[in-house]
Amino acid sequence: MSLSIGSLAFDTIENVHGKRERIVGGSLTYYAYAASLFEKPKLVGVIGEDFPEAIINEMKKRGIDVRGIEKEEGKTFFWEGKYSDDFLERETITTELNVFEHFDPKIPDFYKGERNVFLANIAPSLQKKVMEQLGEDKFYVMDTMNLWINIDRAGLEDVIRKVDGIILNDEEARMLTEKSYIYDAAKALKNYGISFALIKKGENGSMLYYDNKFVVIPPYPIETVIDPTGAGDSYGGAFMGFLEEAGNIDLKTLKKAMVYGTIVSSFTIEDFGVERLRNLKREDVEQRLGEYMEMLNFSV
Ligand code: AMP
Repeated sequence: MSLSIGSLAFDTIENVHGKRERIVGGSLTYYAYAASLFEKPKLVGVIGEDFPEAIINEMKKRGIDVRGIEKEEGKTFFWEGKYSDDFLERETITTELNVFEHFDPKIPDFYKGERNVFLANIAPSLQKKVMEQLGEDKFYVMDTMNLWINIDRAGLEDVIRKVDGIILNDEEARMLTEKSYIYDAAKALKNYGISFALIKKGENGSMLYYDNKFVVIPPYPIETVIDPTGAGDSYGGAFMGFLEEAGNIDLKTLKKAMVYGTIVSSFTIEDFGVERLRNLKREDVEQRLGEYMEMLNFSV
């Protein structure tokens, strides 16, 4: 099973389709719903007293291990974002750390045997605390966001040097590496000593750089995007979930994991927040995977 740390949150999201106030979100929440289509992910995070018990119970029903989620006095992390009408840009309006402010993650002993670890988007200092408790002998994959590149580049780079793989969006990859051409950015990421870099390019699909090879795959075509929030986290969840299910890591498996990430995140963006993921089933994923493969199947 994979082990993951990240945020559980309330999000207020505004875009061309309207505004949703204080809906359940967070990098770990999206990750967990997506990964649970493939395995039983183990979560480490923190919630306040206001986080809905119904969501925690629903997670348990899906086989998600929530024993590493601490409930603290006070309010859950809150984030507010606003999208441009074409969804190409997103502005953070508010970030309230709340219970995250003094969060000191403790990995339960019964989680420590897991090999695959995902450091979802969260402060690099917290990602580092997890690695310190788990040691070097793990398969670490991480995500991050522009905020940390801006306010804690040194801390973030320290984490990147210790992981096996990184999943970023194209804007973050360009910012971090200061390379404008995306292929140069992917190569530059490898200079941190990681074995793979996966760059998500939104409506342009995603790209992997592994073993000196590039793999570029298109998105599943979604005609009406309702809310792209969490697309990256749910891509990460499906990617890691599939790697866990597959049990080995090579180019072929990484490619399949990319395809599952693509398909699951295509569902995420069909509704606000985690709504679409909450009732998503593996059969739905497999059916869409079939349509995706058919779209790509051509002879010349
Ligand atoms: P994504 O759209 O994949 O970048 O992920 C969006 C999720 O990231 C939202 O549900 C937010 O709650 C969460 N998020 C936003 N800012 C932060 C932050 N500074 N630390 C942790 N999680 C965050």
